[in-house]
Amino acid sequence: MELKICHLFPDVLNLYGDRGNIACMRKRLEWRGHTVIVSEVSIGQKLRASDYDLFFIGGGQDFEQEVLLEDLKGEKTAEIKAAIADGKTFLAICGGYQMLGAYYKTWDGQQCDFTGALDLYTIGEKQRMIGNYMFTCEELGGQTVVGFENHSGATFLGSGVRPIGKVLSGYGNNGKDGMEGARYNNVFCTYSHGCLLPKNPVLADHILKTALSRKYGSADLAPLDDAIETAAHDYMAKRLSANA
Ligand code: GLN
Repeated sequence: MELKICHLFPDVLNLYGDRGNIACMRKRLEWRGHTVIVSEVSIGQKLRASDYDLFFIGGGQDFEQEVLLEDLKGEKTAEIKAAIADGKTFLAICGGYQMLGAYYKTWDGQQCDFTGALDLYTIGEKQRMIGNYMFTCEELGGQTVVGFENHSGATFLGSGVRPIGKVLSGYGNNGKDGMEGARYNNVFCTYSHGCLLPKNPVLADHILKTALSRKYGSADLAPLDDAIETAAHDYMAKRLSANA
């Protein structure tokens, strides 16, 4: 099987090594004998969303999110919306997550009008939400996901999307309603930066299976030896449970 991954705005949205999630997806597929092709599409480059199976968008500072607004308008927004409607898989993190919503009003009053692809919006707060955190994810059979968040934006979901999980420790979407991330069609949004997929291999495979199933009708991924990844997950889960 073959998966074509599009990394959107890789040079603008890449906090905490978010691109490592692409390396993780690539390796997990290659270890099973599958082919992965990664393409990068940034400011000024044409996005032909029908060319890809999976889209990855990392996080960025407010400034960087403002920089890409002009480019995002129009054609790119239309392509992103069409891909989502078509059931393409997205993994969007923090600033990339916010970008799939309607808007982000920063704490210092800048209005970032985004794609509106998902029914959600974000309001910046002066106090940032920072730290390691953990949430449960029902679609992973209630398994926990451990992550790291650092955002000023508080995101609120409309009725058209559901959260990806419930916060067990930390802030999640807004620090108030106990929800984390967003799910719609085959879109996965989360505030969790950096090594999200390496330390949550079950989530990594779930996202890969979502993309492969859409393309090939089904996707059996052979088990891998995840002893090190699972140990990393369990160590953080234990630490965060003790603090909860
Ligand atoms: N700039 C956004 C915020 O502060 C997103 C941050 C991020 O991607 N870490 O909410």
